[in-house]
Amino acid sequence: MKFVSTRGRMTPAGFSDVLLDGLASDGGLVVPSEIPAIPAERLEEWRALRYPELALEIIGLYATDIPREDLERIVRAAYSAERFAAPETVPVTDLDERISLVGLSEGPTMAFKDLAMQFLGEVMPYVLQRAGRTLNILGATSGDTGSAAEHAFNGKENIRVFMLSPQGRMSAVQRAQMYSLDDENIHNIAVDGNFDDCQNLVKAINADAEFKASHTIGAVNSINFGRICAQIVYYFWAWLRATDDESRREAPVSFAVPSGNFGNIFAGHLARRMGLPVHRLVLATNENNVLDEFFRTGVYRPRSRELTLATSSPSMDISKASNLERFVRELFGEDAEGFAERWAELDREGVLDLSDQREALEREHGFLSGTSTHWDRVNTIRAEFEANGVIVDPHTADGLAVARRLTDLPGRILVLETAKPEKFRETIEEALGDRTPPLSAELLELLERPQRTVDIENSAEQLRDYIDAACEQ
Ligand SMILES: *Cc1c(COP(=O)(O)O)cnc(C)c1O
Repeated sequence: MKFVSTRGRMTPAGFSDVLLDGLASDGGLVVPSEIPAIPAERLEEWRALRYPELALEIIGLYATDIPREDLERIVRAAYSAERFAAPETVPVTDLDERISLVGLSEGPTMAFKDLAMQFLGEVMPYVLQRAGRTLNILGATSGDTGSAAEHAFNGKENIRVFMLSPQGRMSAVQRAQMYSLDDENIHNIAVDGNFDDCQNLVKAINADAEFKASHTIGAVNSINFGRICAQIVYYFWAWLRATDDESRREAPVSFAVPSGNFGNIFAGHLARRMGLPVHRLVLATNENNVLDEFFRTGVYRPRSRELTLATSSPSMDISKASNLERFVRELFGEDAEGFAERWAELDREGVLDLSDQREALEREHGFLSGTSTHWDRVNTIRAEFEANGVIVDPHTADGLAVARRLTDLPGRILVLETAKPEKFRETIEEALGDRTPPLSAELLELLERPQRTVDIENSAEQLRDYIDAACEQ
């Protein structure tokens, strides 16, 4: 399998190369040069597989430059019982006759990002070791990504993680998950500033080509194809579990996906293109609804940072969906020129008008979309608790709220649970009041652990000095 750039000016490369490089050399995003097709018989054979075995089959279609025995070891370690609370890794639970929850947050940081990051945490050290290289991962986080990355890479030999977070602006659980790690290769850098300041510092370092090269700076953000392909696995898994019962095989199966950067649902789109019989992919946004707007109207209009709202589903607070380029490139098919022209226009004008393709977005590609508000989330959390005794987190509530509105959609809707409610306690308390369950002993213990950060000012100079010194050791 070779990977190419959405912008068409990168020499085709293998999985291991695109894994470490992240962005394509021409500034585009890497995409597989062809989509493997899974015939129905093969899909049926996969029904008997356990989660790590299914991951081996699916990731193996993309990571063809890693020998199968090695990849097997990697996925077994990534999805082992010590790392995921549920024995089946990803439990699928029916809420009622129409809606099921796909439990993607059984991993160490209680959010779906663990499923992709745990794979990177095994495969990246492997690829680096094979190439005799080391890597310094630099990132900025407002919560979920940073903790998932740190829990995936802690203690790994040829990798250091430098994670910038805004001082005092994350939830208590998110802070404890990150700052209590004491492995030497994990550097929690608390910046005196907000999340934008953190991101700007990362950009400043990456713009310094010489520093970037001499310090082998890399990233594990949501555009990394290694993350996308690990996410394809749970769409197949959830579909198989939803149709294990033979009486359910005739009814269509759709997915509802709480979305931000379009990484999660893009993996669902690839699963569908590989032949998984997905009826609809329902994209759910919060009030930051650039993607809902795009799928309803065909017009994509990224917003400025100032127009991005801070909501109660913070991991979906985006102004621009970094993975959308991959999907839009597909809409142009053979017409690479056309894509390049229109994508440049987006940069120039700040808007991409594909309203002529609006119908194809649903009919051909299966996308539906919707927006939920804070009020919808709080009500959904309360209603779901009262009807089914289940507590969902505010992001999952976005997905549920949009799914429940689609009363005409035939068959079953699998709502992806993207985080555990304990991570976002404030909103749960708002919804449930004194019916909110107490924190578990495990979480209380986590919150009590000593925390350690390196505090810096909002200064690229200070950050550079810190990384420099850490790399010397
Ligand atoms: C990252 C995240 C999302 C958004 O996922 P994308 O892949 O960016 O669309 C949704 N919910 C939670 C809890 C997240 O951490």
